Amino acid sequence: MTSLICRVCDERQFDLIIDLGDQPWGNGFIPPSQIQDEKSYPLRLMRCRSCETAQLDFTVPKEEMFVNHTYLSGITKTLETHFRETAERATDRFLKDKPKPRVLDIGSNDGMQLQQYKDLGCDVLGVESAIYVSSIAVKSGIPTTNSFFNLETAHEIGDQFDLINASGVFFHLEELHSVCEGIKFLLKPDGVFVVQFIYMKLMQDNIAFDQIYHEHLLYYTLKTINTLLKRHNLEMFDAYVSPIHGGSMIAYVGHPRHHEKAENLASLIREEEQSQTNSLQKYLEFAEATAKSREKTNSWLKRNLESGKVVYGLGAPVKGNTLLNYFGIGPEKVPYLTERNPLRKGLVSPGKHIPVIMDDELPKLPDAYLVLAWNFKEEILKRHATDIVNGIEFFFPVDPSDA
Ligand SMILES: [Zn+2]
Repeated sequence: MTSLICRVCDERQFDLIIDLGDQPWGNGFIPPSQIQDEKSYPLRLMRCRSCETAQLDFTVPKEEMFVNHTYLSGITKTLETHFRETAERATDRFLKDKPKPRVLDIGSNDGMQLQQYKDLGCDVLGVESAIYVSSIAVKSGIPTTNSFFNLETAHEIGDQFDLINASGVFFHLEELHSVCEGIKFLLKPDGVFVVQFIYMKLMQDNIAFDQIYHEHLLYYTLKTINTLLKRHNLEMFDAYVSPIHGGSMIAYVGHPRHHEKAENLASLIREEEQSQTNSLQKYLEFAEATAKSREKTNSWLKRNLESGKVVYGLGAPVKGNTLLNYFGIGPEKVPYLTERNPLRKGLVSPGKHIPVIMDDELPKLPDAYLVLAWNFKEEILKRHATDIVNGIEFFFPVDPSDA
């Protein structure tokens, strides 16, 4: 049924886990005039029978996804705090004794993460494929190469780094093996690669199926990312869980035998084994829970609409489009998505074509919000404290606190 070659181990035997139907690229917010040109692609989660890595079988060309995207990391407070904490933690542990540590960020976006390292006294360089987004970084004083990162880019950069960061990009990468080789090439002998990825164990625990979208080609567990790293002679020596993006893992990786392996990592791996996270059975349970979640949200929405209530979508995140498209929710049910990223103003959501409206320009307040940006739950509930007092309902279709 698929000609997929495993992105990690090159084998060809897979099980289909979840089929979310044909969907346009989830970050493809478009002006209404371009609706007729929109293309859709299969969105299916597969599990490799050999190395157990969960992955998509269809790749939207990276030039289509990452050259003009409009995601800005600097928009939310939660992310800014997260970037500062990540940088402080890594700097304290690995860079304290170095006079002017060199830090490289792969997929550096608007430079928000590197700004934190720069403030901590590091010499920084970003690599970012999005033209406009990388120009924002350069304007704010973060040296940034506008390019895709791979072994060739690594050779062009040349000099080695004390720390290489990749936050939320390591599962995007089409040229996975070339990227790993590039990292190995640019990492000093005692250097540390800090990789952050959405953690499949937490996706299963939280039924966060909406993390599945075309940008995310791979969905790692500790076991599966270690298979990849080993193949490139890189070694994970510690890791910790972070709530960012709805549940991520941040791992420290180095050249083999240069860092002592932490007990904490062993205990996280044991947890994964005990939960049987990598088993086919566990993945099938995840698929079943996803189908149930669709029923639950659609009946909530139906009840509201039948009693004449107005429901808006809160946030226009990429994952929200996976959900809206899979659940079959369009503008006839949810007339607006309210958003704060000004780059999405005047655009419509991919697939369902729900207009995006800035949250300070709402024609009137709705009776309820379908919260698509559920990973910012705390920040959202705080920001909307008055609305909650006034009786506006906030419904979380994916809610880690339910799990
Ligand atoms: Zn495999």
